[in-house]
Amino acid sequence: LMFGRSRGFSAASAPDRGRAECNVAVLGMTGSGKSALTVKFLTRRFISEYDPNLEDTYTSEEVVDQQPVLLKIMDTADQDGPANCERYLTWASAFLVVYSIDNRRSFETCQQYLDVLSLHTKGLHPETPIILLGNKLDMERHRQVSKSDAVSLASRYGCLFFEVSACANYPPVQHVFHEAVREARRE
Ligand code: GDP
Ligand code: MG
Repeated sequence: LMFGRSRGFSAASAPDRGRAECNVAVLGMTGSGKSALTVKFLTRRFISEYDPNLEDTYTSEEVVDQQPVLLKIMDTADQDGPANCERYLTWASAFLVVYSIDNRRSFETCQQYLDVLSLHTKGLHPETPIILLGNKLDMERHRQVSKSDAVSLASRYGCLFFEVSACANYPPVQHVFHEAVREARRE
């Protein structure tokens, strides 16, 4: 029923009252860890090898702040930055834009995504929330993206910002996805 809507988050109508949906699109450069983060969130496990060309959408029944939500996560696999974005631009009720803190180029790719997203969402009321997410926090020794650069990019585009590691403990990863649901609910 709700699946075809242009914006994904909505309270369900009468027949399955209590159900709400939230569609999260996970975007970013290949290798930034989108699939590892998605799988970690869904299974609590770190899968280190994942087909970089595989794009899939997963569904999970979650409870966020005591409220059930049918969470759909599109783990995208754009080959080279934002292109053919239509499939997620209209689908998503929140965006996670991911880079790897040890890869400057992945951070620059985020800027391209944020440009595309902000152009798209500017026309929408309410705007679709965006979270900027630095992954591979365990690679601190090889950090190429400072926290302050990320904070200023996030504030320029009005995003929330977090740093996590898909291969470390679970709660911070869960927190990011739950924040995406909260932000979508707020809109
Ligand atoms: P995607 O192309 O964005 O989906 O990236 P993947 O999830 O396939 O991950 C790319 C590579 O980074 C793989 O070798 C993963 O094992 C590795 N990786 C993903 N997340 C982390 C992380 O948090 N820390 C470290 N050290 N490696 C990670
Ligand atoms: Mg992937």
